[in-house]
Amino acid sequence: MAEAKEYCGLFGIFDCDDAVEKVFYGLSSLQHRGEESAGIASSDGKSIKQHKNHGLVSDVFSPESLSRIKNPHAIGHVRYSTFGSSDNIDNVQPLVVLYSKGEIAIAHNGQLLDASKLRNDYEQHGSIFHTTSDTEVIVHLMAKPSHVEKPNFSHVLNHLKGAFALLFLTKDEMVGVRDRNGFRPLSIGKLNNSYVLSSETCAFDQIGAEFVRDVEPGEVVYINKDGLKSEIYCSPRRIRPAYCIFELIYFARPDSNVFGENVHLFRKQLGRKLAKEAPVDADIVIAVPEGGNSAAMGYSEASGIPLDRGFIRNHYVGRTFIQPEQGSRHKKVELKLNAIAEVVRGKRVVVVDDSVVRGTTSKSRLKLLRKAGAKEVHLRISCPPHRFPCHYGIDFQIKDELIAANHTLEEIKDFLHADSLGYLSAEGMLGCTASPRNHYCNACFTGNYPASIENVGKKTHIKEPKNRKAVPI
Ligand code: SF4
Repeated sequence: MAEAKEYCGLFGIFDCDDAVEKVFYGLSSLQHRGEESAGIASSDGKSIKQHKNHGLVSDVFSPESLSRIKNPHAIGHVRYSTFGSSDNIDNVQPLVVLYSKGEIAIAHNGQLLDASKLRNDYEQHGSIFHTTSDTEVIVHLMAKPSHVEKPNFSHVLNHLKGAFALLFLTKDEMVGVRDRNGFRPLSIGKLNNSYVLSSETCAFDQIGAEFVRDVEPGEVVYINKDGLKSEIYCSPRRIRPAYCIFELIYFARPDSNVFGENVHLFRKQLGRKLAKEAPVDADIVIAVPEGGNSAAMGYSEASGIPLDRGFIRNHYVGRTFIQPEQGSRHKKVELKLNAIAEVVRGKRVVVVDDSVVRGTTSKSRLKLLRKAGAKEVHLRISCPPHRFPCHYGIDFQIKDELIAANHTLEEIKDFLHADSLGYLSAEGMLGCTASPRNHYCNACFTGNYPASIENVGKKTHIKEPKNRKAVPI
C-alpha cells in the first residue's frame, strides 16, 4: 500500500459515572471497524488521561487500566491503519495533545485529502509534528489564531477537505463532527442524562443508550454541562450528502442503523435485487459469512432456491479484508472458513458475497467449496464491480489492486474458477437506498467522486519524528 490510510470506529460519552467502562463496551461493539489498535481518553473536568495500545479492545484494556483512567467524560477509538504507521504507538488514537489552548484528545474516522499539503506548509513555517498521523494536522490548525483562548472548531473544520467524522474531548466538553458530505456515519444517543456519540448505533444497544439522531453532514455538536448545542459549520450550499454506500454494503454491523436505515434489511434487499438481475439454476444458496449472510437470505427468498450453511467461520481469526499484508490474507482465508462437505457435495451452489475487491480471498473461498465436492459454484456479488480507488478512508486506494479495474467479468470468472459470476448493477444497488440516490457516494463503482481528489497522490514521505514523546501524552 502506498499511502497511510485509516478505517476506524469512534465512541464517546459525556457526564456519566462509569464513562470509561461504557466506552470500553462501545468500542467492543465497534471492533469490526478497526482491529489494530484501541484507545480511550478521559477527563475529570481538569485534565485528560489516556490508555492506548496496539491490539483488540479486549487485549488493550484491563480492569486496572480502565480504573486508572476512570473519569466522567471519555472518548475512544478503534483503528485499522496500514503502511508503517501502525507500528508507531504515537499514531494510536485518540491523540492527546497539550497545545497553546490546553489539552485536547482527538479521534478521527476517515481520510483528510489535503493533510500532506497542510503538513508541508506548517513544517516549512517551523511547526514540529510528533506523529506520522494525518490527524495531527488538525491540532496545528486548532492552535491558530494563537491569541484566542478556546479552539474555534468552525474555523478548523472549514479548512479540512475529505472524509472525516471526528470526536474531540477537552477538559470540559465533548465535540462531534461530520464532514459536509457525511461520508462516515456518526450518531447521537442518550443514556439517562448523558449524551453518547458513536460511529454505529449497535454500540448504543450495547450500553443501553437510546438513539436520538445522526449528526448531520456539515454539523458540529458541542456537549458540555449545559447539554447539547448544534451548529452548521460551513455554508449550507456547500453541504452535499455523499454517504459511503460501502458502509451499508460491507462495513457496518447488520444490527446498526446507518444513514437512516437498518443495515441487515438493506443488504437483504440487495440480495433480492441480485436474484432478479443475475438468476441461475442451482440447488442451494449459501452465504460467505458474515458479510454475505443478509444478501444470501434475500437472494434465496426472491429466487426460491433454499438457503443453507455452506461455510463455517472461525471467529478467532481477524477480518480478511483488513489485514495490511497481502501475504497473510491468503493464509487467513483458509484459517477463517471451512466448507461443510455434507451440505455442498454434488450440489450446484450459489455463493453470495458482499464484494470482490482484490479477488484473492474469493478465489480461496471458491476453492474450498470445490474441494468439499460442490458440483457447480456460481458466485453472486451484492454490489457492482469495484473499478475505482477510494480516497475517503477505505483500504483500496490503488487501482491496480482492484481486480475489476483491469479485467473483464469473463476474466474474473476464470481467475476465480467460478462456473458463473454475477454482480449487482449500480442502478439496482441505488434502487435499494432509503435516501435519494444522489445522497450516496458510489465513486469506487462509478468513478464519480463527490469531493475533490485534487491533492491525492501529492503526498510526500512523512518521516518518523525524532523526538516522539515530546507532545502526545
Ligand atoms: S469511494 Fe466507495 S468506499 Fe469510498 S467512500 Fe465512496 S462508496 Fe465508500
